[in-house]
Amino acid sequence: MNTPTNINKRIFLSTPHMSGKEMHYVEEAFKKNYIAPLGHNVDSFEESLANFCKISHVAALSSGTAAIHLALTILAVKPGDEVIAPTFTFSATINPITYLGATPVLVDSEPETWNMDPDLLEKTIIKLRNRSGPGKKGVAGPKAIIVVHLYGMPANMDAIMHIANKYGIPVIEDGAESLGSRYMGKPVGTYGKMAILSFNGNKIITTSGGGALISDDKEVIDKARFLAAQARDPAPHYQHSEIGYNYRMSNILAGIGRGQMEIIEERIKQRRKINQWYRDILKNVPGITFQTEPSDNYFSNYWLTCIIIDREKSGTDREKLRIALEAENIESRPLWKPMHLQPVFKGSQANLNGTSEKLFNDGLCLPSSSNLTESDLTRISGVIKKQFNPEKEF
Ligand SMILES: *Cc1c(COP(=O)(O)O)cnc(C)c1O
Repeated sequence: MNTPTNINKRIFLSTPHMSGKEMHYVEEAFKKNYIAPLGHNVDSFEESLANFCKISHVAALSSGTAAIHLALTILAVKPGDEVIAPTFTFSATINPITYLGATPVLVDSEPETWNMDPDLLEKTIIKLRNRSGPGKKGVAGPKAIIVVHLYGMPANMDAIMHIANKYGIPVIEDGAESLGSRYMGKPVGTYGKMAILSFNGNKIITTSGGGALISDDKEVIDKARFLAAQARDPAPHYQHSEIGYNYRMSNILAGIGRGQMEIIEERIKQRRKINQWYRDILKNVPGITFQTEPSDNYFSNYWLTCIIIDREKSGTDREKLRIALEAENIESRPLWKPMHLQPVFKGSQANLNGTSEKLFNDGLCLPSSSNLTESDLTRISGVIKKQFNPEKEF
């Protein structure tokens, strides 16, 4: 039986989960008085990320959003340019496109991975390159493609990179949710020209807030460091020939990141175990589909466990389950609302196939923290069982 105290304790979708080593590195920064956006913690955190992601160069930054802004800036995205991005994502993928005065061109998802549909991507590129007519003269093809590995699931990178290379368009991977995920055995984030990571409080590891740009191209990361530190020219005085930003990561926060990197493998195992736990308890429930690795080529960190609830077959729906969980003080969340349905991106060009709208209408993210306790799981499964079929045992 649940005690009243654990009934009242809120179960969140995804919470920070410390290793216990973080304070040691934070204190180290205090002892050395390196309370600055550079120092040993930043260097070490970058090095551990490079090793883990199997990539040559990493710049730790203030957020994942800042990393996307720099990535697009480094690719010389300018006002009036077009950048292809998935419609099914978090707004932080798209916002930086507009910071640069460029225009997002949204592409729908494939049903397998829920990520960018490669066929629709190619159709979109062809459409953008072939268009003509008044006012369209001088608009080149798309300047960049942003691919997202949503909820940890790798996108179909083989097909996407094949298309991107065919048309010579650089790819930025948004790996904010997919640290530790692999595609064909290789970490995601190593397929495109560059990739971004996020260490926001809800991600698989956190620095409380932070991000990184990663790349095998040294010039890209050198440029990112330059832009992130106000674009200061090499001179004894302060001289600037370009517009810069204040986007570096604090040495204090990088200390948290160092402590987190020591247990990243464990966190991935825990998230995947929770995903398997949901599959087990929902095994015999009709009308439930999980976001699932389509083949052995895909390895998801299963940052969040996400399901689709078929209204007819399941006898319930997404909102009913969400509200039932909420009544027990358990947080769950509808899947991302597609960007083409967002008021702020109304009227954006979008190539749609209905997948993202279906995902949004029927999909739910379930509590997936790596530190869920046995009693948390009992509470969650209690609500789920009651919701789907109070009569039947499963
Ligand atoms: C969290 C997230 C970001 C932004 O990262 P921040 O560090 O919060 O700025 C970008 N894209 C996706 C898909 C995310 O989930």
